[in-house]
Amino acid sequence: AGIMECIFCKIVDGKIPCAKVFESKTVLCFLDINPGNKGHVLVIPKQHHVTMETIPADVAKDIMDAARKLCLALPAVTACDGYNLLMNNGVAAGQEVMHCHLHIMPRFANDDFRFKFMGDTERMYDIIVVLKDSAGFIYSGTLSKMSGKKDPSMCF
Ligand code: AMP
Repeated sequence: AGIMECIFCKIVDGKIPCAKVFESKTVLCFLDINPGNKGHVLVIPKQHHVTMETIPADVAKDIMDAARKLCLALPAVTACDGYNLLMNNGVAAGQEVMHCHLHIMPRFANDDFRFKFMGDTERMYDIIVVLKDSAGFIYSGTLSKMSGKKDPSMCF
């Protein structure tokens, strides 16, 4: 769906309702309609971005600031014992709503929710080397300097 059909843009515009818990100029936080646990909140940028990588740095910071404040309130409000922050980026990662959002999910001792990491450790060193380079170049704003190097996507 395009931006016109985006359900979270409609929430931002007030065209469909949400259970709002916090709002600033750039972000909106509301309860997930199908919570994994009680108190499951979504933090979204008001601007339409599909995934993390197009969010401007200042908005990314606003998202994390809002999340952090909600996390401060969560234990008192929900009596949770911990919480997970999760962002699904891309269909392969389980993203269903194509307007990026950070899940904050309260966790309770002995709830049976589990993430299971069973990744392959083969070629881990290759990944580290290339990722370290590209992340460094992206940070210094000189990604173009990688032109002399192998395309990182070709290394795997
Ligand atoms: P994801 O799989 O990360 O894209 O998650 C999308 C999340 O958005 C799911 O947890 C849904 O329950 C939630 N969701 C979808 N529509 C709404 C809505 N109208 N209001 C609140 N949460 C919603």
